[in-house]
Amino acid sequence: MKKLSKVVALSLTAALAASVLGACGSSDKKTETAAAESAAETEAAQAAEGVSLEDNTLVAGTNAEFPPFEYVAGQGVIDEFDGIDMAIIKQIADDNGWNVKINNMEFDSLSVALKNGQINCAIAGMTITDERKEEITFSDPYYTATQVMIVPEDSTIASAKDMEGKKISVIQGYTGETVVQELGYQYDSFKKGADAVLELVNGKCDVLVIDSATAEQYVKENKGLKIVEDPEAFANEQYGIAVQKGDDALLNAINASLKKMQEDGTMDKIIAEYMDKTE
Ligand code: GLN
Repeated sequence: MKKLSKVVALSLTAALAASVLGACGSSDKKTETAAAESAAETEAAQAAEGVSLEDNTLVAGTNAEFPPFEYVAGQGVIDEFDGIDMAIIKQIADDNGWNVKINNMEFDSLSVALKNGQINCAIAGMTITDERKEEITFSDPYYTATQVMIVPEDSTIASAKDMEGKKISVIQGYTGETVVQELGYQYDSFKKGADAVLELVNGKCDVLVIDSATAEQYVKENKGLKIVEDPEAFANEQYGIAVQKGDDALLNAINASLKKMQEDGTMDKIIAEYMDKTE
């Protein structure tokens, strides 16, 4: 009942906004944009129908070791958790009138936690892959990344092929590990990005393969490192929010909210804010 009245209220707001804009003689384009945004809002509110959450709280799993998407801060956007993904999931919860709680765990455990109902969704800079889709369901994509190589500034590694015979690091369970496996090279795998970066800084390894935005973050924070890209070897990857297979109600609500954020500029604003913050 409550949600329904929200939908009606939103529709009324949309109609009102459209007529006010019209009366002011604004361009049709502006009116259309406002109408589209309101339609997306209405869609988001409608999509939340059918979602049942314990204590009206969305429990989101993450691995807060992946700046600028998720990391632990003194005061974050959700408790001590901050970053792009945290701001996105907070907005999704706000859009739907839910509380949100973060369950911080190892990246590799997220799928299992989803399957056994320990968390409602996982937001963790998670690349949408066919292999993962066999276990869990992904939302529409919200960010495009790629794998890159972090190397010491004086490294001669200029392409993925140059990694052959070098000491390569990856993070366990990340797509970077799969990519290096597919290239057929030996590697060491780390549980935490920060630990792998330390090895690199201390000259104990030659190259770390990791997601682009996170690599930028590590290079900003640590002197003497640089990023090497190889678009021919590393394809684009898209991040999605994962839900349990068959949880269509939650999936629809998440997608509707993501769409709204993409249309009204909130998504760009969140991404820009955290990229800047960590500069
Ligand atoms: N995008 C990478 C993956 O999905 C890394 C994600 C992460 O570390 N949080 O494997």
